[in-house]
Amino acid sequence: MSIPFLDMKSPYLELKKELDEAYARVMSSGWYILGKEVESFEEKFAYYCGVKYCVGVGNGLEALHLALRGYDIGAGDEVIVPANTYIATWLAITYCGATVVPVEPDWGSYNIDPDRLREALTPKTRAIMPVHLYGMPADMNGIMEIAEEHGLKVIEDSAQAHGARYKGQRTGSLGHAAGFSFYPGKNLGALGDGGAVTTNDPDLADRVRALRNYGSERKYYNRYKGFNSRLDELQAAFLRVKLDKLDEWNQRRRRVADLYFEGLTDCEELILPLVPENVEPIWHLFVIRHRDRNALQKKLAQAGIGTLIHYPIPPHLSEAYREMGRKKGAFPISEELAETVLSLPMGPHLTKDQVADIIEQIRA
Ligand SMILES: *Cc1c(COP(=O)(O)O)cnc(C)c1O
Repeated sequence: MSIPFLDMKSPYLELKKELDEAYARVMSSGWYILGKEVESFEEKFAYYCGVKYCVGVGNGLEALHLALRGYDIGAGDEVIVPANTYIATWLAITYCGATVVPVEPDWGSYNIDPDRLREALTPKTRAIMPVHLYGMPADMNGIMEIAEEHGLKVIEDSAQAHGARYKGQRTGSLGHAAGFSFYPGKNLGALGDGGAVTTNDPDLADRVRALRNYGSERKYYNRYKGFNSRLDELQAAFLRVKLDKLDEWNQRRRRVADLYFEGLTDCEELILPLVPENVEPIWHLFVIRHRDRNALQKKLAQAGIGTLIHYPIPPHLSEAYREMGRKKGAFPISEELAETVLSLPMGPHLTKDQVADIIEQIRA
């Protein structure tokens, strides 16, 4: 038996005809950067998320970075962010010259805890970047309430949550702006790098549109010192095809999650994900916890089952953020999560039999 953690080939094979057509269309168009494909995808994805604007950019990290820049966040400003996230969320803040202020998650959802968030506010706080980790929407009502009280911007890191809903509303439409990643392994993945900013704020959309293209609104007239971070036509054409499948594929992931819940709920040594009320996750990852995680991972590997750890080192303990001076013990919840989490295979192409085999091996 061999079940990889992530199956990257089946998504292409299922959509081969449409993707190959999109490829041929762009190849023969003679236009490869910022054209009709990008415009059309932006319109389509904005509509999907339930927002007015979408701006395609080079990747997810750049989406977060340009959204912060669009709100003029920089040196001297503090941005509150989860202590347990992928390092990209932190890097976006660091790119702007602003200060990262990490906050611990709550034990149930693994998402940022609004009560702890409140304690981290200072007069320098300018923005909050909640992450919908593993595809589970964060407690946005609690977060927006604090933001409104204190005049803060909220930029959702939606890189793992394409199509997830909070109180019926899609992620990407819940804060002032959001950053998405279309890295191939995400629920909506390109066949290369890609990202987008979504927002209802017309000024922010204009700023990000300029910032992604050297800071120019009109060719050779540069309003800002911008960047080069553009979604290309080929990736946009692929994303248009894949967006049509997103809801169906998310639904198929939901079925896999249901099977995991059914097969594993009575395993007392495991902690399964908790789905808060009023939330529809899209199961980017299915993350369980076990006291002896490393041994479990090894046993599963011996049985041919691929798993990963998201993430083994919290950003404050990584080499990159050593200058922060936060030692082990600074964020105990995030540190314990890093030692106990295990991501099981998850995706729209996992078969019922494969999931049954995984469950059987875990139980054994
Ligand atoms: C993937 C990811 C990013 C970064 O996206 P890239 O497209 O790889 O730059 C940011 N935040 C989170 C939570 C992610 O999972």
